[in-house]
Order: sequence, then structure tokens, then C-alpha cells
Amino acid sequence: FFYVPDLGDGARLTVTGDEAHHASAVQRLREGDALALFDGRGRVARARLLSIRARGREIEVEVYQRVLAPPPRPRTLLYTALPKGDRASVLLDMATQLGVSRFTPLTCARAAVEPRSAVPERWKRICIEACKQSRRAHLPELAPPLDIGTAAGHAATERARLLVAHPDPGARPPTASDAETHALFVGPEGGFTEGEIEHLRARGAEIVTLGPRILRIETAAVALLAALTVGAG
Ligand code: SAM
Repeated sequence: FFYVPDLGDGARLTVTGDEAHHASAVQRLREGDALALFDGRGRVARARLLSIRARGREIEVEVYQRVLAPPPRPRTLLYTALPKGDRASVLLDMATQLGVSRFTPLTCARAAVEPRSAVPERWKRICIEACKQSRRAHLPELAPPLDIGTAAGHAATERARLLVAHPDPGARPPTASDAETHALFVGPEGGFTEGEIEHLRARGAEIVTLGPRILRIETAAVALLAALTVGAG
């Protein structure tokens, strides 16, 4: 499964650079082998390898079928505080495999990491790799950071079902529903403040528990996503 942002419309296609190298040197595809290319927006081209050139940095393929893959369902909008170090990469890798539709870093009162306004190039690469690994034809959207109030407002205008992970002994575990869009909120290392929880509640958010143990941000995000997506199409 190879990422080619512009699949064109022709019967033949030349793929260059890292994706060509991945096909020829890493996957060791040879002339006549079948492969699939995706453009990150749902278009998939099924093709056969015709030739390998430029010492594996360029391949030519013949496209024999074009299909439009459906986007992941339910649509999941993930809003999380950022974990420390490179654990945001782990979060994005796993969330992409689980079908997250949009990732938005949250600015929170007790956050240890302040999100940068520009989306890091590294994150885009991680999402592409996770799409290739999971054979997902739509790249997730990587949105700029938002504060909780704005994020909750956006989620509400998208008619999303809002769920907030919060280690509250009175909360119930998340349950799947037939809502088309879910907005999932995960707090920082220091947890959401009571004010932030009240803000989300006022927008109709459900407070959900992910069990008796305190999970890292990325574990909580993945557990919440999995609870809502693994049983769905
Ligand atoms: N000391 C913080 C607290 O008590 O809220 C723990 C924060 S935890 C490291 C980071 C985030 O993961 C939390 O804000 C929450 O969104 C989510 N989380 C972690 N464990 C959870 C659990 N057992 N149930 C629900 N949410 C959890």
C-alpha cells in the first residue's frame, strides 16, 4: 500500500522517491507484482509493477482498477492534551490505525506540554506510515491546537456525541452508539480541572471512565477510540 498524493487518471503512473524505494528495496517487489496506491483522500489504484529505474528510486506501474474507499466510520474527532517527549507520535500512530478522522491538540490549564501552532512534519509522516500499515486510504486531518471551550463548540456544531475521559468513580465506561460523529476528549498529565469538566458538561458531554487504573494520555486516547470503533464497520 503506497502513498501517492496525485494518482492522476492515466493507465500508467510513475512513482518516485521514498515510496518507490519502499516498493523496490524494502518490499522487494518485482516486475509483474501487484500493488495498491492511495492518495490519502480515499482514492485507491490497484496496479502492476512494470519497471524499476534509477536504482529503485523510480518505478512505473500499470493501473488496472480505480476504487473509492469509504472513510472510517464512525467519524471520530480526537481532542487530547499532548503527552511529553515523543509519545504524541505513539498516540498518532495508534489512533490512525484505529481510524481517527481528525486529531486536535488541546490546550488545558494543567498541561505539561504546550502544543505548537504549526502541525509538525513528523506527525504527517507518522500518519502516512500508519495508513500504509493499516491499509487505510484516508489520511486523518491534523488540526491546529484549540482551547477546551473552542474545541467543545466546534464539536457541538459538528453534531458530535461528546465523550470526556475522566477518572471519576461515578462515571460509566464508554459504550458504542449509532452516532455518526464522536468527539473524544482526553486530558493532560495533571487531569482536567473541575471548571474544564463543567464546561464540557454544559455542552452535553458524557463523562466516561476507562477503568480503575490511571492511564497515560496516549493509552487513554487509544482505549477510548477502540471502545467506540472496533465493533463498527
Ligand atoms: N491525575 C490525573 C487525574 O486524576 O485526572 C490523571 C491524568 S491521566 C495521566 C491523563 C488523562 O487520561 C486524564 O485527564 C483522562 O482524560 C484520561 N484518563 C486516564 N486514566 C483514565 C481512566 N481510568 N478513566 C478515564 N480517563 C482516564
